[in-house]
Amino acid sequence: MGNVKDLAVRRRLVSLSRRLVVKVGSGVLTGENGLNTRVIGRLSGEISRIRASGREVVLVSSGAIASGFRNLGFSQRPVSIQEKQACAAVGQAGLIFAWEKALARHDLKVAQVLLTADDLSNRRRYLNARNTMSTLLGWGIIPVVNENDTVVVDEIKFGDNDTLAGMITGLVGADLFINLTDIDGLYDCDPRQNESACFVPLVNAVGPRIEAMASRIPGALGAGGMYTKVLAARRVARRGVACVIANGKKSQVLTRILAGEPEGTLFVPREERLNQKKHWIAFTAKPKGVLVVDDGARTALLERGKSLLPSGLGDVQGSFNRGDVLQVKGADGLVVAVGLTNYTADELHRIRGCRTQEIEGILGYKHSDEVIHRDNMVVGDKLRT
Ligand code: GLU
Repeated sequence: MGNVKDLAVRRRLVSLSRRLVVKVGSGVLTGENGLNTRVIGRLSGEISRIRASGREVVLVSSGAIASGFRNLGFSQRPVSIQEKQACAAVGQAGLIFAWEKALARHDLKVAQVLLTADDLSNRRRYLNARNTMSTLLGWGIIPVVNENDTVVVDEIKFGDNDTLAGMITGLVGADLFINLTDIDGLYDCDPRQNESACFVPLVNAVGPRIEAMASRIPGALGAGGMYTKVLAARRVARRGVACVIANGKKSQVLTRILAGEPEGTLFVPREERLNQKKHWIAFTAKPKGVLVVDDGARTALLERGKSLLPSGLGDVQGSFNRGDVLQVKGADGLVVAVGLTNYTADELHRIRGCRTQEIEGILGYKHSDEVIHRDNMVVGDKLRT
């Protein structure tokens, strides 16, 4: 597994890492009888050694639903959202307690952080969460993050902790994202269904070929499947952060990854980095509306590095405020860009198609010449998945 060049790439990427997000899936943390405290104990030992090497760790821990339904004596993971939420509420208490107890053996303290996609989509709450996390890390505490399953409905849920962990990686400015699951990493097809599946030790860029390799079927206890892991890896790679998907059931898995050993699938980050704000715009915030632009504006955005002006604006869809994230689409319906709007939906209905000199005359004031400024915009039609 892994040739000499791949190993050199691994060593370089992991040796530079100082702040890690480690996500542990339900399939790793839970078994027949609920939470697997032996695995939690083993990972806690590894985390304490990582801390001792001067690195900071944020944990994203699944397992609330899986632990809750076992605890309640049900034989299967519930299907309805209400039952999953109720099981998560039961299981979360045991989950955080198990981490607290196991990490305390190594003199480490934990903090419980429960979030929804809606929280991170709101710039102010996102920045609040970032400040809290940075205070916790400054105090040497291990944040243990999970989705706030009790309050989520479809529109505000991450749905799987792979997506959440990818966003947390951006939120805390981590430089390595380790996603522990119950298989060794990415295979060229689903190894559970195909005996001849080949392991993929290194991915340089996630495109349609790699996405097609990843199964969308989650394990019996988890929510995501390999597909959401690959998408999360792609998102963090866009921010210039490496990701390793590896088997959390193997002993010493974290230690081996950080020693640059050939463990799991490494996703190599892109050289060109998106800054934190642009990464939030592109991959964390949920768009509140759509602006349809004409061909001239589309070309100006895609090829000439321009801001979006009212003159190129056609249809305005949705109800949104200043500062909300919007999708910009061409007449063909393909996404051209995402960015922060300087105007509300009502204002844009009134100024669309006009020249910038006319804005003040129409509205009686002008926030800015641009509808979306280039600095608050990420361009490219393959941005969102
Ligand atoms: N939040 C869910 C739980 O703790 C996990 C979602 C997932 O497995 O990705 O059970």
